[in-house]
Amino acid sequence: MNALACSVLVLFFASSGAQAQTALERQLDPELFAHILATAAIDNHAHPILPPPDDASDRDFDALPVDNMEPETDSVAWRPDNPQLPAAWRALWNIDLTVPLDPGATKRLAAARAAVKTREGAHYDDWILDQAIIGTMLANRVSMGPLAVHAGSAQPRFRWVPYVDALLFPFDNSGLAAENPDKKLFFPLEDKVRARYLVSLNLKTVPATLDDYLAQVVTPTLERQRAGGAVAEKFEIAYLRSFDFTDPPRAQAERIYRQLAGQPNPDPAVYKLLQDFLFRYIAAECGRLGMAVHLHVLAGGGSYFGIAGANPMLLEPVFNSPALRHTNFVLLHGGWPFVREANALLQKPNVYLDLSQQSLTFPPRTMATWLRELLETFPDKVLFGTDGYALSDAEGWEESTWIAARNARQALALALTGMTQDGEITRPRALAIADEVLRGTATQLYAEKPR
Ligand SMILES: [Zn+2]
Repeated sequence: MNALACSVLVLFFASSGAQAQTALERQLDPELFAHILATAAIDNHAHPILPPPDDASDRDFDALPVDNMEPETDSVAWRPDNPQLPAAWRALWNIDLTVPLDPGATKRLAAARAAVKTREGAHYDDWILDQAIIGTMLANRVSMGPLAVHAGSAQPRFRWVPYVDALLFPFDNSGLAAENPDKKLFFPLEDKVRARYLVSLNLKTVPATLDDYLAQVVTPTLERQRAGGAVAEKFEIAYLRSFDFTDPPRAQAERIYRQLAGQPNPDPAVYKLLQDFLFRYIAAECGRLGMAVHLHVLAGGGSYFGIAGANPMLLEPVFNSPALRHTNFVLLHGGWPFVREANALLQKPNVYLDLSQQSLTFPPRTMATWLRELLETFPDKVLFGTDGYALSDAEGWEESTWIAARNARQALALALTGMTQDGEITRPRALAIADEVLRGTATQLYAEKPR
C-alpha cells in the first residue's frame, strides 16, 4: 500500500470513529479500498432536505412524503434502533450514543445536529455530502429550491430528478385511492403535484383531448423540468400500480381519454390503458430530451405495497420496445428481492441499475454477494447510490446517506477484492471498475444531450 492509500485509510477510520477495523474491513484489498474511499462518488439517488433556514418547512423531498401510513414491519435499517446508527452519529455529530435512544439521548442528538446546522448554515447539505465522500448527489425532489445553486456547473453538488407519476393519472382518482389505505394517502398527494404542474403552465384543468394534454401539459412539463436542470425523471409508480405497461395505439388512447375526461371514478381497467400509453409517451419524450427514466424497483415501503407488481421482468416489453431504445432506464434500488432478474435485464443496452436503498438495507457482505455477480456480468451498468432519506428522528437523511455510502463502498471493495483474489480480474481492472461504479458510468449517463 502506498503512503497516500495508507493515510486515506487512517483518516477514514479516524473520522468514522471506528475503534478498529472489522473482520470484513481486514479482508479488503487495502489499496483498492483506499482508492474507493478517496473517490468522491456520484450518488445516483437520494432525498436531501433543504439546508437551513428552509429545512423545517421542506416537504418537497418526496412526492409522497407520507408519515402517517398504517404500520408495516420495517426492515432493521429503517428502525430507530438500527445498529449502524451510532457510527453515523459519531462521524457526523461527534457524539457517542447507543441504540435505542432514550428521551434524553434523543434531545442530545437533536442538539448536536442543530449545532452543526448552525455552524454550516447554507452549506450544511454540502458538508453532509463531504462526510459521506459524495461529490454530486442526484436529488429526487419535487423542487430544488436553494439546492439548484451551481446545478449547471461542471461539478454541481446537487442535480435534479423530479417526479412524473402525477401525469399518468389526469382524471378522477378516487376509485384508485379506495383500493387500500396507502393509496388513499398517495393519490391525493399525486393530485397535488399535478395541480402544481398545471399552475406552472397557467392551466386550471387538463385539456379535453389527448393531443392537447400531451402538447400543452405533458411535453411542456418535461421540457420545463429539463430546462430547470433535471437529468432524469423519477417514477414511483410501483407504489401506485404494477409495471405491467401494455402498448395501446394512440388512436385507442385518444378515444379512452375523451371517454374518461370529466367522468367520476373511471373504470380502472380502461383507465389503466391510458396510463400505459402515457408511460411510454413520457419515456420516449425523456429520451428525446436527454433525460434518463428512474424507476423505483424494490419491495416497499408500506404495508400494502404490491411486491409482485414491482418485478422488473414486467418491464421487459418496455425495454424491448424499439421506440424506446433512445431512452435510458435506471432500476433504482437494484430490484430487491428480484436482484437476479434485475441483473439479467442489464443486457438491454439502455438499462442500468443503482445500489441505492439496498446499500442502506443490507450490510455490505450480503449485498456484495449479488454485487459481485453484477460486476462479473455488466460492470459498466451499475451506479453507486444511497437513497438518503429522513426515516426518523434518530435517522435523518444525513445518517441514512452516510450509512448507505459506507456500506456501498465496503460491498464494492469486498466484491472486487474477491474477484481480484480469484484471478478473475487484475487490480488495475478492479480500480477501473470501482471508478465506473462510483462516478464514471453516471458521468456518461447524465451527459446525454437532447436529440
Ligand atoms: Zn428514494
